[in-house]
Amino acid sequence: MPNDPGMHLLFSTMAVAIAFTSAAPVSAVPDIGVPPVSAAAAAAGFIDVRTVVPDAIIDLRYATANNFVGAPLYPLDARCLVHESLGAGLATAADTLRPAGLTLVFWDCYRPHEVQVRLFEAVPDPDWVAEPGDYASGHETGRSVDVTMVSGGVPVDMGTDFDDFSPIANAYATDGLSTRQQANRSVLRNAMAKGWIAPYVGEWWHFDGPGASVDRPILDVPVN
Ligand SMILES: [Zn+2]
Repeated sequence: MPNDPGMHLLFSTMAVAIAFTSAAPVSAVPDIGVPPVSAAAAAAGFIDVRTVVPDAIIDLRYATANNFVGAPLYPLDARCLVHESLGAGLATAADTLRPAGLTLVFWDCYRPHEVQVRLFEAVPDPDWVAEPGDYASGHETGRSVDVTMVSGGVPVDMGTDFDDFSPIANAYATDGLSTRQQANRSVLRNAMAKGWIAPYVGEWWHFDGPGASVDRPILDVPVN
């Protein structure tokens, strides 16, 4: 029996299942490769997006200098945290894209309030960056995400880079975009719509989950 690879796999799976049950991570599906989120994140109802989209590519631009501020705003070990209300929808979107060889890339997820303040200081235009106020924005509650796609590991041509603050970044822009770029945006929007995740007309990469626009208190949750 020890030489039976099938049985060995079965026992490994059982051990994993037991370990998962006892660790009781806050996630919708068991994924032993993702460590539990912090106590503060769990208390806020946050999950690591990789527990619902196991093949998600995490490219948090604010954890690098490759963003419009030109400096890292997140710690290097920042995670893509989203509110659990987004979990099923993101899983549906990823499941919709996967048969076409497309994979979701997450540029931003939960965003701490102090980072929202710094972004708005850099671009004080509420059309592009939510103005910090008495209540938390969609990103600040983990209910909005900034995403793009790769096809076979190659970035899909969506017409602009992340945080391109120009009219062709508008989700339904046509001027200056090829039909292919417009179609690629449509593919992303349609997949997210299957998960009841709404596009934002101002930015093709920004999507809002259920209740993202509801006024909620500002959180104090680390992004790592
Ligand atoms: Zn966004």
